[in-house]
Amino acid sequence: MTTVAAYAAPAAKAPLERTTIERREVGEFDVLIDIKFAGICHSDIHQAREGWGDAIFPMVPGHEIAGIVSAVGSGVTKFKVGDRVGVGCMVDSCRECENCRAGLEQYCLKGNVGTYNALDKNGEPTYGGYSEKIVVDENFTVRIPDGLSLDVAAPLLCAGITTYSPLRHWNAGPGKKVAVLGMGGLGHMAVKIAHAMGAEVTVLSQSLRKKDDGLKLGADHYHATSDPTTFEQLRGSFDLIVSTVSAPLDFGAFLSLLRPDGALVNVGAPEEPISFNLFSLISGRKTLAGSAIGGIRETQEMLEFCAEHGIGAEIELIGASEINDAYERVLGSDVRYRFVIDTATI
Ligand code: NAP
Ligand code: ZN
Ligand code: ZN
Repeated sequence: MTTVAAYAAPAAKAPLERTTIERREVGEFDVLIDIKFAGICHSDIHQAREGWGDAIFPMVPGHEIAGIVSAVGSGVTKFKVGDRVGVGCMVDSCRECENCRAGLEQYCLKGNVGTYNALDKNGEPTYGGYSEKIVVDENFTVRIPDGLSLDVAAPLLCAGITTYSPLRHWNAGPGKKVAVLGMGGLGHMAVKIAHAMGAEVTVLSQSLRKKDDGLKLGADHYHATSDPTTFEQLRGSFDLIVSTVSAPLDFGAFLSLLRPDGALVNVGAPEEPISFNLFSLISGRKTLAGSAIGGIRETQEMLEFCAEHGIGAEIELIGASEINDAYERVLGSDVRYRFVIDTATI
């Protein structure tokens, strides 16, 4: 075991504070990663505050990890010391079920092992990226292409893949009208990626506050959902809406913006259930779907795509002592567009 410094929530809703945790010895198929940067995802906040139900404490959040390999186990073939690597939301899965075999480890029938707030196969709690080092199986480690700086690459490990995967699956591309609902961490990545895929991109944000940014990031149009005329004007116009909103929404109102056969894909994970009238799906043969992160193979593919298109996250780099303030700003939709922790400050 190696003792490393980390930032942890000692209990639900308690502020995060500096502490130390134990990392396992580097096993045969493990890589030891010196973490350089860790993004703050809204999911970190949902979990640190037990918004999704019972959680494991102390909790070291962080599943947008970018760093450098500093040691490898004897059986490791994919990585060597000095490689630039990333770790996202999962550190293991059963690897045998039909979903794992299809590269959909996020939908493992036995449940994937989360990077934090989970128990690994030995029953030990997992700890995430707000720390100096992490030990991860090479099969759950991805390579960060040379063209991407580690700080702007870190958020791709969750925000990037969570938006890339549904945009690919629902065929965002030339001739497709795609709306991105909510322009925070996930939303701004969805704008960049959908634009790079060739789609016509519209942002639907609560206000026009971030309009200039949205247009610069690749949006063709930008509308405020607080303005009722938005819903009249855009009625029946989108092939695909990706909702990245962290709070419950009136899905009926947003379904009315789809064309017949259009899909509203929800990736946001609000803490409360929602209710809506099913007639908003029936009229127009519409689909309401969900999507969780992406598999390991697809995460690597997304990183190559982002490197090829010069896409990184728009980040605000912070020191570890600013984590609690950053959480409050994320909760207030005051993030442009991802907080990233410089882990040298832990
Ligand atoms: P974020 O940076 O806080 O962005 C969420 C955005 O939603 C905000 O910037 C805001 O956009 C909008 N919003 C917030 N509250 C709202 C409200 N009450 N009404 C309408 N819009 C509101 O969060 P994030 O890190 O992108 O994560 C977004 C959600 O996705 C979270 O629930 C997170 O847990 C979830 N998530 C899911 C997956 C997955 O695999 N499915 C992966 C990662 C994260 P505007 O200011 O533009 O309105
Ligand atoms: Zn996340
Ligand atoms: Zn499985």
